[in-house]
Amino acid sequence: MMKDLLAQRVNPDVPSALSGLFPKDDDPRAISFAAGSPNEDLFPVQAMHTAFDTAMINHGAHLFQYQTSQGNADLRDQLARRIGKWGQVQTTRDHVVLTVGGQQALELVAKTLLNPGDEVVVEAPSYVGALAAFDLYAPTYYGVPLQNDGIDLNALEDTLKQHPNIKLLYTVPDYHNPTGITMSVAKRQQLVALANKYDFVILEDSPYRDLGYEHLPLPAVKAFDTEGRVIFVSSMSKILMPGLRTGWMVADGGLLTAILRARQASDLEANNIVHAAIDAYLTANDLDAHVDILKADYQRKCAAMIQSLEDYFPDEATFTRPDGGFFDWVTLPEELDADALLSDTIIPQAHVSYVPSTNFYPDRNVRNGFRLSFTGLAPETIDEGMHRLGDQIKAALHA
Ligand code: PMP
Repeated sequence: MMKDLLAQRVNPDVPSALSGLFPKDDDPRAISFAAGSPNEDLFPVQAMHTAFDTAMINHGAHLFQYQTSQGNADLRDQLARRIGKWGQVQTTRDHVVLTVGGQQALELVAKTLLNPGDEVVVEAPSYVGALAAFDLYAPTYYGVPLQNDGIDLNALEDTLKQHPNIKLLYTVPDYHNPTGITMSVAKRQQLVALANKYDFVILEDSPYRDLGYEHLPLPAVKAFDTEGRVIFVSSMSKILMPGLRTGWMVADGGLLTAILRARQASDLEANNIVHAAIDAYLTANDLDAHVDILKADYQRKCAAMIQSLEDYFPDEATFTRPDGGFFDWVTLPEELDADALLSDTIIPQAHVSYVPSTNFYPDRNVRNGFRLSFTGLAPETIDEGMHRLGDQIKAALHA
Protein backbone atom coordinates (compact mmCIF):
# COMPACT_ATOMS: atom_id res chain seq x y z
CA MET A 1 0.00 0.00 0.00
CA MET A 2 2.82 2.38 0.94
CA LYS A 3 4.31 1.78 -2.50
CA ASP A 4 1.60 3.86 -4.13
CA LEU A 5 2.79 6.90 -2.22
CA LEU A 6 6.34 6.72 -3.52
CA ALA A 7 7.67 8.46 -6.61
CA GLN A 8 8.53 6.15 -9.49
CA ARG A 9 12.17 7.17 -9.29
CA VAL A 10 12.61 5.30 -6.00
CA ASN A 11 10.55 2.25 -6.98
CA PRO A 12 11.41 -0.33 -4.30
CA ASP A 13 10.73 -3.19 -6.74
CA VAL A 14 13.91 -2.34 -8.61
CA PRO A 15 16.82 -3.79 -6.63
CA SER A 16 19.37 -1.23 -5.44
CA ALA A 17 22.81 -2.25 -6.64
CA LEU A 18 24.44 0.13 -4.17
CA SER A 19 22.94 -1.44 -1.06
CA GLY A 20 23.86 -4.92 -2.35
CA LEU A 21 27.55 -4.03 -2.30
CA PHE A 22 27.95 -4.38 1.41
CA PRO A 23 27.57 -8.01 2.46
CA LYS A 24 26.23 -9.03 5.85
CA ASP A 25 29.45 -10.24 7.36
CA ASP A 26 28.17 -12.55 10.07
CA ASP A 27 29.77 -15.54 8.30
CA PRO A 28 33.30 -15.93 9.72
CA ARG A 29 34.50 -17.64 6.51
CA ALA A 30 33.23 -14.80 4.30
CA ILE A 31 35.71 -13.08 2.01
CA SER A 32 34.22 -10.15 0.13
CA PHE A 33 35.69 -8.88 -3.10
CA ALA A 34 32.53 -6.77 -3.52
CA ALA A 35 32.85 -3.43 -1.74
CA GLY A 36 35.46 -0.94 -2.98
CA SER A 37 36.64 0.05 0.48
CA PRO A 38 40.10 1.52 1.04
CA ASN A 39 42.47 -0.08 3.57
CA GLU A 40 41.47 1.56 6.83
CA ASP A 41 44.68 0.52 8.57
CA LEU A 42 46.33 3.25 6.49
CA PHE A 43 43.90 6.05 7.40
CA PRO A 44 45.88 9.02 8.82
CA VAL A 45 43.63 9.23 11.87
CA GLN A 46 46.06 10.95 14.25
CA ALA A 47 47.08 13.59 11.70
CA MET A 48 43.41 14.26 10.95
CA HIS A 49 42.62 14.56 14.65
CA THR A 50 45.33 17.21 14.94
CA ALA A 51 43.95 18.93 11.82
CA PHE A 52 40.46 19.15 13.35
CA ASP A 53 42.02 20.74 16.48
CA THR A 54 43.96 23.20 14.32
CA ALA A 55 40.84 24.15 12.37
CA MET A 56 38.84 24.79 15.53
CA ILE A 57 41.61 26.85 17.12
CA ASN A 58 42.31 28.88 13.98
CA HIS A 59 38.71 29.62 12.98
CA GLY A 60 36.85 29.71 16.30
CA ALA A 61 33.10 30.34 16.18
CA HIS A 62 33.20 31.30 12.49
CA LEU A 63 33.83 27.66 11.63
CA PHE A 64 30.30 26.87 12.84
CA GLN A 65 28.61 29.68 10.89
CA TYR A 66 26.87 29.41 7.49
CA GLN A 67 29.38 30.08 4.74
CA THR A 68 29.12 29.77 0.94
CA SER A 69 27.59 27.12 -1.34
CA GLN A 70 30.96 26.54 -2.99
CA GLY A 71 32.63 25.71 0.33
CA ASN A 72 35.83 26.58 2.20
CA ALA A 73 37.89 28.90 0.00
CA ASP A 74 41.30 27.77 1.32
CA LEU A 75 40.56 24.13 0.54
CA ARG A 76 39.22 25.08 -2.90
CA ASP A 77 42.50 26.92 -3.46
CA GLN A 78 44.56 23.86 -2.53
CA LEU A 79 42.46 21.57 -4.76
CA ALA A 80 42.68 23.97 -7.72
CA ARG A 81 46.47 23.94 -7.36
CA ARG A 82 46.54 20.18 -7.03
CA ILE A 83 44.54 19.55 -10.22
CA GLY A 84 46.72 22.16 -11.92
CA LYS A 85 49.87 20.29 -10.98
CA TRP A 86 48.72 16.67 -11.40
CA GLY A 87 46.01 17.05 -14.02
CA GLN A 88 47.21 20.04 -16.05
CA VAL A 89 43.84 21.75 -15.52
CA GLN A 90 44.37 25.48 -15.27
CA THR A 91 41.68 26.70 -12.91
CA THR A 92 41.08 28.70 -9.75
CA ARG A 93 39.11 28.25 -6.58
CA ASP A 94 36.25 30.23 -8.12
CA HIS A 95 35.52 27.23 -10.34
CA VAL A 96 35.73 24.60 -7.59
CA VAL A 97 32.68 23.33 -5.68
CA LEU A 98 33.09 21.14 -2.58
CA THR A 99 30.51 18.36 -2.35
CA VAL A 100 29.39 15.56 -0.06
CA GLY A 101 31.57 12.94 -1.69
CA GLY A 102 32.02 12.67 -5.43
CA GLN A 103 28.63 10.97 -5.34
CA GLN A 104 26.82 14.25 -4.62
CA ALA A 105 28.63 15.89 -7.52
CA LEU A 106 27.36 13.18 -9.89
CA GLU A 107 23.81 13.55 -8.62
CA LEU A 108 23.97 17.35 -8.87
CA VAL A 109 25.17 17.20 -12.46
CA ALA A 110 22.34 14.81 -13.35
CA LYS A 111 19.83 17.06 -11.59
CA THR A 112 21.20 20.10 -13.42
CA LEU A 113 21.21 18.60 -16.92
CA LEU A 114 18.70 15.81 -17.30
CA ASN A 115 15.02 15.97 -18.14
CA PRO A 116 13.22 12.60 -18.37
CA GLY A 117 14.22 10.86 -21.60
CA ASP A 118 17.32 13.00 -22.19
CA GLU A 119 20.08 11.04 -23.88
CA VAL A 120 23.20 10.05 -21.96
CA VAL A 121 26.25 8.04 -23.01
CA VAL A 122 27.93 5.84 -20.44
CA GLU A 123 30.87 3.52 -20.73
CA ALA A 124 29.75 -0.11 -20.84
CA PRO A 125 30.34 -1.19 -18.11
CA SER A 126 30.03 1.92 -15.94
CA TYR A 127 30.16 2.96 -12.26
CA VAL A 128 27.05 1.70 -10.49
CA GLY A 129 26.72 4.79 -8.25
CA ALA A 130 26.63 7.09 -11.26
CA LEU A 131 23.94 4.97 -12.89
CA ALA A 132 21.97 5.12 -9.62
CA ALA A 133 22.26 8.93 -9.58
CA PHE A 134 21.29 9.28 -13.25
CA ASP A 135 18.41 6.79 -12.91
CA LEU A 136 16.60 9.25 -10.61
CA TYR A 137 16.22 11.57 -13.61
CA ALA A 138 15.05 8.82 -16.01
CA PRO A 139 17.41 9.37 -18.94
CA THR A 140 17.73 7.25 -22.09
CA TYR A 141 21.11 5.50 -21.98
CA TYR A 142 23.50 4.49 -24.72
CA GLY A 143 26.35 2.23 -23.62
CA VAL A 144 29.63 2.48 -25.53
CA PRO A 145 32.17 -0.36 -25.08
CA LEU A 146 35.56 0.05 -23.49
CA GLN A 147 38.84 -0.94 -25.11
CA ASN A 148 42.17 -1.43 -23.33
CA ASP A 149 42.92 2.29 -23.75
CA GLY A 150 39.47 3.59 -22.82
CA ILE A 151 36.14 4.21 -24.52
CA ASP A 152 35.80 3.03 -28.14
CA LEU A 153 35.73 6.38 -29.96
CA ASN A 154 34.56 4.92 -33.28
CA ALA A 155 31.57 3.29 -31.61
CA LEU A 156 30.98 6.56 -29.77
CA GLU A 157 30.98 8.61 -32.94
CA ASP A 158 28.54 6.16 -34.58
CA THR A 159 26.24 6.58 -31.57
CA LEU A 160 26.55 10.38 -31.75
CA LYS A 161 25.66 10.37 -35.44
CA GLN A 162 22.59 8.23 -34.78
CA HIS A 163 21.48 10.26 -31.76
CA PRO A 164 22.39 13.90 -32.35
CA ASN A 165 20.58 15.06 -29.19
CA ILE A 166 22.92 13.31 -26.77
CA LYS A 167 23.48 15.75 -23.92
CA LEU A 168 25.88 14.13 -21.53
CA LEU A 169 28.72 11.62 -21.59
CA TYR A 170 29.90 10.09 -18.32
CA THR A 171 33.43 8.68 -18.11
CA VAL A 172 35.79 7.35 -15.43
CA PRO A 173 39.06 7.82 -17.33
CA ASP A 174 41.54 6.76 -14.65
CA TYR A 175 41.65 3.22 -13.22
CA HIS A 176 38.02 2.87 -14.17
CA ASN A 177 35.43 1.46 -11.84
CA PRO A 178 34.65 -1.42 -12.52
CA THR A 179 37.36 -2.48 -15.03
CA GLY A 180 40.59 -0.80 -13.90
CA ILE A 181 41.13 0.54 -17.46
CA THR A 182 42.78 3.96 -18.07
CA MET A 183 42.01 6.17 -21.06
CA SER A 184 45.02 7.15 -23.20
CA VAL A 185 45.97 10.80 -23.45
CA ALA A 186 45.23 10.81 -27.19
CA LYS A 187 41.69 9.59 -26.54
CA ARG A 188 41.15 12.27 -23.89
CA GLN A 189 41.96 14.91 -26.46
CA GLN A 190 39.81 13.27 -29.15
CA LEU A 191 36.91 12.89 -26.73
CA VAL A 192 36.86 16.64 -26.08
CA ALA A 193 37.00 17.27 -29.84
CA LEU A 194 33.91 15.06 -30.26
CA ALA A 195 32.12 16.93 -27.45
CA ASN A 196 32.83 20.20 -29.26
CA LYS A 197 31.70 18.79 -32.60
CA TYR A 198 28.49 17.12 -31.37
CA ASP A 199 27.73 19.62 -28.60
CA PHE A 200 27.49 17.58 -25.40
CA VAL A 201 28.82 17.86 -21.85
CA ILE A 202 31.48 15.47 -20.52
CA LEU A 203 31.23 14.43 -16.88
CA GLU A 204 34.75 13.28 -15.97
CA ASP A 205 34.73 11.30 -12.71
CA SER A 206 38.21 10.62 -11.45
CA PRO A 207 38.52 9.56 -7.80
CA TYR A 208 41.34 7.06 -8.55
CA ARG A 209 43.55 9.34 -10.66
CA ASP A 210 46.32 9.64 -8.06
CA LEU A 211 46.53 5.87 -7.53
CA GLY A 212 48.61 4.75 -10.53
CA TYR A 213 51.01 2.29 -8.89
CA GLU A 214 54.02 3.30 -10.92
CA HIS A 215 52.75 6.30 -12.85
CA LEU A 216 52.15 9.94 -12.20
CA PRO A 217 48.58 11.01 -12.99
CA LEU A 218 47.80 11.68 -16.65
CA PRO A 219 46.43 15.02 -17.83
CA ALA A 220 42.71 15.14 -17.06
CA VAL A 221 40.14 15.16 -19.88
CA LYS A 222 39.33 18.62 -18.50
CA ALA A 223 42.89 19.71 -19.39
CA PHE A 224 41.81 19.67 -23.08
CA ASP A 225 38.56 21.57 -22.49
CA THR A 226 38.50 24.84 -24.42
CA GLU A 227 34.75 25.51 -24.28
CA GLY A 228 33.86 24.87 -20.62
CA ARG A 229 31.98 21.68 -21.47
CA VAL A 230 33.89 19.26 -19.23
CA ILE A 231 32.87 18.93 -15.57
CA PHE A 232 35.68 17.37 -13.56
CA VAL A 233 34.81 15.46 -10.38
CA SER A 234 37.15 13.93 -7.82
CA SER A 235 37.11 12.88 -4.20
CA MET A 236 39.03 12.57 -0.95
CA SER A 237 37.51 9.13 -0.37
CA LYS A 238 40.20 7.02 -2.02
CA ILE A 239 43.29 9.08 -1.19
CA LEU A 240 42.32 10.13 2.35
CA MET A 241 39.18 8.68 3.96
CA PRO A 242 35.63 8.14 2.67
CA GLY A 243 34.15 9.03 6.07
CA LEU A 244 35.14 12.66 5.44
CA ARG A 245 32.43 12.63 2.74
CA THR A 246 34.34 15.17 0.72
CA GLY A 247 34.30 15.35 -3.04
CA TRP A 248 34.81 18.27 -5.36
CA MET A 249 34.19 19.39 -8.88
CA VAL A 250 35.54 21.91 -11.35
CA ALA A 251 33.02 23.54 -13.69
CA ASP A 252 32.81 26.73 -15.71
CA GLY A 253 30.41 29.42 -16.84
CA GLY A 254 26.67 28.81 -16.97
CA LEU A 255 27.12 25.15 -15.99
CA LEU A 256 28.78 26.19 -12.74
CA THR A 257 26.03 28.71 -11.95
CA ALA A 258 23.31 26.12 -12.62
CA ILE A 259 25.03 23.43 -10.55
CA LEU A 260 25.34 25.82 -7.60
CA ARG A 261 21.65 26.58 -7.83
CA ALA A 262 20.86 22.84 -7.72
CA ARG A 263 23.25 22.50 -4.79
CA GLN A 264 21.53 25.21 -2.79
CA ALA A 265 18.23 23.36 -3.14
CA SER A 266 19.84 20.11 -1.98
CA ASP A 267 21.76 21.12 1.12
CA LEU A 268 22.61 24.86 0.94
CA GLU A 269 26.31 24.25 1.43
CA ALA A 270 28.94 21.71 2.31
CA ASN A 271 30.31 20.71 5.72
CA ASN A 272 32.61 23.60 6.60
CA ILE A 273 34.05 21.98 9.69
CA VAL A 274 35.33 18.94 7.81
CA HIS A 275 36.62 21.07 4.96
CA ALA A 276 38.56 23.40 7.25
CA ALA A 277 40.09 20.29 8.85
CA ILE A 278 41.09 18.86 5.45
CA ASP A 279 42.62 22.24 4.57
CA ALA A 280 44.63 22.12 7.82
CA TYR A 281 45.63 18.51 7.09
CA LEU A 282 46.87 19.39 3.59
CA THR A 283 48.81 22.37 4.98
CA ALA A 284 50.56 20.37 7.70
CA ASN A 285 51.12 17.06 5.86
CA ASP A 286 52.46 15.81 2.54
CA LEU A 287 49.44 14.21 0.84
CA ASP A 288 51.61 12.86 -1.98
CA ALA A 289 53.78 10.98 0.54
CA HIS A 290 50.62 9.48 2.03
CA VAL A 291 49.38 8.52 -1.44
CA ASP A 292 52.73 6.78 -2.10
CA ILE A 293 52.06 4.53 0.91
CA LEU A 294 48.61 3.67 -0.45
CA LYS A 295 49.98 2.96 -3.92
CA ALA A 296 52.57 0.51 -2.56
CA ASP A 297 49.92 -1.32 -0.53
CA TYR A 298 47.40 -1.52 -3.38
CA GLN A 299 50.03 -2.56 -5.90
CA ARG A 300 50.97 -5.53 -3.70
CA LYS A 301 47.33 -6.54 -3.35
CA CYS A 302 46.61 -6.13 -7.04
CA ALA A 303 49.62 -8.33 -7.83
CA ALA A 304 48.28 -10.99 -5.45
CA MET A 305 44.94 -10.86 -7.21
CA ILE A 306 46.42 -11.17 -10.72
CA GLN A 307 48.63 -14.03 -9.57
CA SER A 308 45.64 -15.86 -8.10
CA LEU A 309 43.62 -15.30 -11.29
CA GLU A 310 46.46 -16.94 -13.19
CA ASP A 311 46.81 -19.76 -10.68
CA TYR A 312 43.20 -20.68 -9.94
CA PHE A 313 40.99 -19.51 -12.80
CA PRO A 314 40.21 -21.54 -15.93
CA ASP A 315 41.80 -20.39 -19.20
CA GLU A 316 38.33 -19.60 -20.54
CA ALA A 317 38.04 -16.65 -18.12
CA THR A 318 39.73 -13.40 -19.13
CA PHE A 319 40.60 -10.49 -16.87
CA THR A 320 42.02 -6.98 -16.95
CA ARG A 321 45.47 -6.14 -15.58
CA PRO A 322 45.09 -2.77 -13.89
CA ASP A 323 48.15 -0.68 -13.11
CA GLY A 324 46.37 1.45 -10.52
CA GLY A 325 43.19 1.87 -8.55
CA PHE A 326 40.93 -0.58 -6.74
CA PHE A 327 39.39 -3.01 -9.24
CA ASP A 328 39.82 -5.89 -11.60
CA TRP A 329 37.21 -7.11 -14.09
CA VAL A 330 36.67 -10.75 -15.02
CA THR A 331 34.83 -11.94 -18.11
CA LEU A 332 33.53 -15.51 -18.04
CA PRO A 333 32.43 -17.58 -21.04
CA GLU A 334 29.03 -16.35 -22.25
CA GLU A 335 27.11 -19.38 -21.02
CA LEU A 336 27.91 -18.56 -17.37
CA ASP A 337 25.64 -16.22 -15.41
CA ALA A 338 27.55 -14.37 -12.69
CA ASP A 339 24.40 -13.45 -10.74
CA ALA A 340 23.08 -17.01 -10.59
CA LEU A 341 26.51 -18.43 -9.79
CA LEU A 342 26.95 -15.98 -6.91
CA SER A 343 23.71 -16.81 -5.17
CA ASP A 344 23.56 -20.54 -6.05
CA THR A 345 27.07 -21.71 -5.28
CA ILE A 346 29.67 -19.03 -4.71
CA ILE A 347 28.23 -17.44 -1.57
CA PRO A 348 26.76 -20.65 -0.04
CA GLN A 349 29.68 -22.95 -0.85
CA ALA A 350 32.78 -20.77 -1.24
CA HIS A 351 31.68 -17.94 1.11
CA VAL A 352 33.08 -15.41 -1.34
CA SER A 353 31.38 -12.46 -3.03
CA TYR A 354 31.91 -10.13 -5.97
CA VAL A 355 29.70 -7.64 -7.84
CA PRO A 356 28.07 -9.26 -10.91
CA SER A 357 28.27 -7.44 -14.24
CA THR A 358 24.53 -6.77 -14.55
CA ASN A 359 24.92 -3.97 -11.98
CA PHE A 360 27.25 -2.00 -14.24
CA TYR A 361 25.08 -1.91 -17.37
CA PRO A 362 22.02 0.35 -17.48
CA ASP A 363 19.90 -2.35 -19.13
CA ARG A 364 21.49 -5.08 -16.94
CA ASN A 365 22.01 -7.21 -20.05
CA VAL A 366 25.59 -8.46 -19.64
CA ARG A 367 25.51 -11.47 -17.32
CA ASN A 368 28.90 -13.16 -17.67
CA GLY A 369 31.28 -10.82 -15.83
CA PHE A 370 32.07 -9.47 -12.40
CA ARG A 371 34.10 -6.87 -10.54
CA LEU A 372 36.69 -7.79 -7.96
CA SER A 373 38.00 -5.35 -5.38
CA PHE A 374 41.27 -6.08 -3.60
CA THR A 375 42.27 -2.98 -1.60
CA GLY A 376 40.72 -3.92 1.74
CA LEU A 377 42.11 -7.49 1.96
CA ALA A 378 45.51 -8.95 2.92
CA PRO A 379 47.35 -10.78 0.08
CA GLU A 380 46.94 -14.15 1.88
CA THR A 381 43.19 -13.57 2.17
CA ILE A 382 43.02 -12.63 -1.52
CA ASP A 383 44.81 -15.87 -2.38
CA GLU A 384 42.49 -17.95 -0.20
CA GLY A 385 39.29 -16.32 -1.50
CA MET A 386 40.37 -16.47 -5.13
CA HIS A 387 41.29 -20.14 -4.78
CA ARG A 388 37.77 -20.90 -3.54
CA LEU A 389 36.21 -18.70 -6.23
CA GLY A 390 38.31 -20.21 -9.02
CA ASP A 391 37.30 -23.75 -7.96
CA GLN A 392 33.61 -22.83 -8.15
CA ILE A 393 34.01 -21.28 -11.57
CA LYS A 394 35.87 -24.32 -12.90
CA ALA A 395 33.15 -26.57 -11.51
CA ALA A 396 30.41 -24.47 -13.15
CA LEU A 397 32.24 -24.50 -16.46
CA HIS A 398 32.59 -28.26 -16.46
CA ALA A 399 29.13 -29.01 -15.07
N1 PMP B 1 32.93 7.74 -8.65
C1 PMP B 1 33.50 6.55 -8.70
C2 PMP B 1 34.01 6.05 -10.00
C3 PMP B 1 33.63 5.77 -7.55
O1 PMP B 1 34.20 4.57 -7.62
C4 PMP B 1 33.13 6.28 -6.31
C5 PMP B 1 33.20 5.48 -5.03
N2 PMP B 1 33.11 4.13 -5.14
C6 PMP B 1 32.54 7.54 -6.33
C7 PMP B 1 32.45 8.25 -7.50
C8 PMP B 1 31.92 8.18 -5.11
O2 PMP B 1 32.76 8.21 -4.01
P1 PMP B 1 32.59 9.26 -2.85
O3 PMP B 1 31.18 9.74 -2.83
O4 PMP B 1 32.96 8.51 -1.63
O5 PMP B 1 33.55 10.37 -3.17
